[in-house]
Amino acid sequence: MTIQSEVQPVDLSGAEHIELVERYGAHNYHPLPIVIASGEGVWVEDLDGNRYLDMLAAYSAVNFGHCNPDLVAVASEQLRRVTLTSRAFHNDQIGPFCRELAQLCRMEVVLPMNTGAEGVETAIKTARKWGYTVKGVPADQAKIICCRDNFHGRTTTVISFSTDSQCRDGFGPFTPGFEVIPFGDVAALEQAIDDNTVAFLVEPIQGEGGIIVPPAGYLRDARAVCKDRNVLFIADEIQSGLGRTGRTFACEEDGVHPDIFILGKALGGGIMPISAVVSTREILGVFKPGDHGSTFGGNPLACAVARKVIEMLKTDTFQSNARTLGAYFFEQLRAIGSKRIKEIRGRGLWVGIELHESAGPARDYCQQLLLNGILSKETHDRVIRLAPPLTITRDELDWALERLKRVLG
Ligand code: PLP
Repeated sequence: MTIQSEVQPVDLSGAEHIELVERYGAHNYHPLPIVIASGEGVWVEDLDGNRYLDMLAAYSAVNFGHCNPDLVAVASEQLRRVTLTSRAFHNDQIGPFCRELAQLCRMEVVLPMNTGAEGVETAIKTARKWGYTVKGVPADQAKIICCRDNFHGRTTTVISFSTDSQCRDGFGPFTPGFEVIPFGDVAALEQAIDDNTVAFLVEPIQGEGGIIVPPAGYLRDARAVCKDRNVLFIADEIQSGLGRTGRTFACEEDGVHPDIFILGKALGGGIMPISAVVSTREILGVFKPGDHGSTFGGNPLACAVARKVIEMLKTDTFQSNARTLGAYFFEQLRAIGSKRIKEIRGRGLWVGIELHESAGPARDYCQQLLLNGILSKETHDRVIRLAPPLTITRDELDWALERLKRVLG
């Protein structure tokens, strides 16, 4: 792995880089002490040339591996053509992107944005406007139902329905119009729906909440309730979607096709931020010119990369690898049989290892894994999250398993 000579060199040690970001960067993250200088496939390299197997994949944004050559080729070509036009004009990537993504989702219309949180905000605005203009909810009375322990992003409206005090404390006042119910509880959903309910917003598997898989049939039943009560079922597949669970969309596991998909992260192949709200013409048709927008949303560079991502997903190669190697990974992890481990859960190549309280904080294990050449990240205090790029091979997984056994066993 070589660092491209065109990249401006910064002649600092790893410790000096960390010191710089500590001094000049706001402390809104608590990174593990590694300074990544390059990446290829499932591997990253630090400044001293040490290699690490990336089992976080930028929170599942790097599903297709670092610097995936097919994606880099498309991005490089598009970089030389045109990168940003704004939506004041058309560009020659956004139309094909919208059509291809709509087809992948078996939907009709796409609204491109940039980050996941923006996608969620856009879905909220969509559902509210649909509520007022189609369902007939009185002005400013729309209610959206969400789940406890959700994670949908960091904007002020999105944290308004978070149940994580760290996400909320000090950031009020909050946006009204949300009701929180337990995740996995269809009866609670039925009870919470009233005449003003416009949508149910749910992660098919709660990622940041600790890779929480709901009971089988939950999404199917919740979807049926929503249909019955004329409430939009919004699947936030920003982290669960695009191959991670062994299917293109995690909802498919329960045979569910939502009213609205929210996608992000891996849609940009780890190269460009791009998110999208994908739905029917009736639902996304509520937007008229000037109602909503974003300077970078639908930019040709991100759309070109996302089109390649969609093409890659259509081959089922990545989903199939996540299914096969995911099953093997779970089997091998469970065989570790460590008394520190309380539960191993997840789906495909998306694993949460919950530790017993007596085992100590998950971060300590992530530190140990780092020293053993594996990048991982805790979520909350007790869960180690593993989500390698979906391009990982069996040999690479075995390499990781050997080290996971060493640290957790
Ligand atoms: N929704 C889900 C399910 C997520 O996991 C995330 C990020 O982790 C988001 C939304 C927010 O995405 P972003 O960080 O790109 O704003």
